[in-house]
Amino acid sequence: MNLPSLPSDSLYKFISFFGMSLVLISMYFLFSEERMIDQKVLDLNSQNRQIDKKDSLTWKEARAIQTQTEFLSKRLGIANPFSATDTSYSWKMTYKGSKEEELLSDTIRALVQKFNEKESQIAQMRVDSRVNEYIFDELQKNYSKDQIIFSVLAFIGILISMGGFRAWYINIQQPTDRRTKSEALLLPPIASRCQSCGKKFEHYTVKRGTESDGHQNNFFCSECYDKGQFVEPEVTLAIMETRLDAELEKERYRKYMKKRMIGELKTLQRWNTERKYE
Ligand SMILES: [Zn+2]
Repeated sequence: MNLPSLPSDSLYKFISFFGMSLVLISMYFLFSEERMIDQKVLDLNSQNRQIDKKDSLTWKEARAIQTQTEFLSKRLGIANPFSATDTSYSWKMTYKGSKEEELLSDTIRALVQKFNEKESQIAQMRVDSRVNEYIFDELQKNYSKDQIIFSVLAFIGILISMGGFRAWYINIQQPTDRRTKSEALLLPPIASRCQSCGKKFEHYTVKRGTESDGHQNNFFCSECYDKGQFVEPEVTLAIMETRLDAELEKERYRKYMKKRMIGELKTLQRWNTERKYE
C-alpha cells in the first residue's frame, strides 16, 4: 500500500490528530449553537418587553380618547359616541347635522383611527413574536438532537485519538525507547575513580590505564593497570589499605577522613567481587 504524504510523520500520529480534531470541531459546534440559542432568548425577551411597553401606551391612549369624548360630548350636550363600556371601541355615530356634532365626530374619528393603527402594529408584533418563538422552539429541538450527535462524535474522536496514540506509542515510541536503552547499555561505563587504588581521575596526575591494543581502560588508573593487565597482579586489599594509610598519614589527613577513605577501598570493583560495576 502506497500512502500519500500524510500531514504527520506517522500514520498513527495522524489518526490521533484526526481524533483530536473531531473532538475540537464537535465542541466548537456545540458551544456556538449554545451561544446562538442564548442570543435568541435575549432577543425574544427584549421583543416581548417592547410589546408590553407599546401595549400599555395604547391602553393609555384608549383611556385618553374616552376622557376626551366624554368631555366633548358633555360640553355639546350630546350622547357619548365612544362608549366606555364598549370593549371593541367601535363608535356610534350621533351625527345630527349640527356643526359641533360634525366637529366632534371628525375629532373622534381621527383619534380612533390613530388608536387602531397602534393596535394593528402591536398585533403585527405579536405575530412576529410568535413566529420567533416557534423558530426558537425548533432551534432548541434541533439543539438537543445536535447535542447528542456532537457528543457522540466527540466521544468517537476521543476513542480514535486514544487508539491512534496508543498504536503510535506501541509501534513507534516503545521500540525507539528500547533501542535507545539497549544502545545506552552497549556504551561502556566510565568510572570516576580508579577501581583498584581509589584515586580520582579528575586529578590531572591520575591517568587512565590502557588495554593491550592501546585503547583506554575505563576503570583503572595507569599505575594499577597497563597494556591490558594489572601492574601488580598479586597485590591484595590489605596491602592497598596499608599503602593508602601511609600515604594519608604523610599528608596529615585527619583520623576520620583516613578511616573513611580506607573504608571505601573495599567497595571498589577490583576488591568487591560481588559488585558489578555499572
Ligand atoms: Zn589505581
